[in-house]
Amino acid sequence: MRPELRLSSSAFRANVEAVRSRVAPSALMLVLKDDAYGHGLSWAVETAVEAGIGWFGSYDIRSGIATRRVAGGDVRIFAWATSSDEEIDDALLQDIDLGVGTIDYLRRIVSRAEALGARARVHLKIDTGLHRNGVLPEDWESAVAEARRAERSGLLVLDGVWSHIAEASDADDDIAQAAFLDAVRIVGESGPMPDALHLTASAASWWRPELRGNVSRIGAFCYGIRSADGPEIEGVRPVATLVAEVTEIADGDATIDMGSFDGLPSTLSGAHVGTPDGARVLRSIGPTTSVVHGWPGARIGDEVALFGPGDRGETSATTLAERIDTVGEEILTRLTPRVRRVVVD
Ligand SMILES: *Cc1c(COP(=O)(O)O)cnc(C)c1O
Repeated sequence: MRPELRLSSSAFRANVEAVRSRVAPSALMLVLKDDAYGHGLSWAVETAVEAGIGWFGSYDIRSGIATRRVAGGDVRIFAWATSSDEEIDDALLQDIDLGVGTIDYLRRIVSRAEALGARARVHLKIDTGLHRNGVLPEDWESAVAEARRAERSGLLVLDGVWSHIAEASDADDDIAQAAFLDAVRIVGESGPMPDALHLTASAASWWRPELRGNVSRIGAFCYGIRSADGPEIEGVRPVATLVAEVTEIADGDATIDMGSFDGLPSTLSGAHVGTPDGARVLRSIGPTTSVVHGWPGARIGDEVALFGPGDRGETSATTLAERIDTVGEEILTRLTPRVRRVVVD
């Protein structure tokens, strides 16, 4: 058996519900980057649409189009990666909202809208200190004026103002919010207030209600991935369980059919994994197989859970990530296509 990433739709729906009620009345935008954090975009979109999610954040336009194909025409899809003219054309035709962090990108979008006779939906991004793509405060008024001119020409609707914050310290996030609110005020003075104002991701949306806009862009917590070095999140549990099969038993150890070539970092040796008899130490990780400390009655064909909600004694992806100084998302997104994604409920 190939290793499997088993996905629980019921856990995903429950997480989405917990997050949605926590952030309400702010609307939950489900973030889908990196193939829905390694879970698989189509399954995540389908399940979220059934749960009534109306906003999706897809990072790049290509996955925005894939999201549109699955979700249909009724949902809003926000793609914020600066993209080529061909992709902009696709976005305009598929009614994708575009995140815009430079005046140059704004101009390219306006010129493609003019060429296609389309109207772009634009969310302007203010740089609130993270310096990760965003209009600098000193350029903000002229960017807004330019967007408003295109709006008056019917080429664009200024549908949102947004930014991204570090979520590393409350003080820095407060400074970022002040810059964000200043940018929103300038936009409001220049014309109608856009319908989507969004600043926060999982951690700040959950813990800092005063920072939320009327939309919250959330990925990690919906998939049940808590922040590294952060607490457990009430009502939220891991959606995915990574399972590999025992292929050999020798000297009290069980060999499983998964290794670093499948995306399992070899530095995870020493972690606890789940077995039919509870938690055991993952002794070593080779290229294609790994070795787990054995348990009474271990047999070929037994299943070992590398991470998951903890039902067999395994820890979460974030707990594994903390051993090697990274984040839970990274453990999931590194898994290769040899790991089959299987929906179990
Ligand atoms: C990844 C990302 C998010 C979601 O972050 P989580 O911590 O996974 O909730 C939100 N906004 C932007 C711009 C992102 O890149």
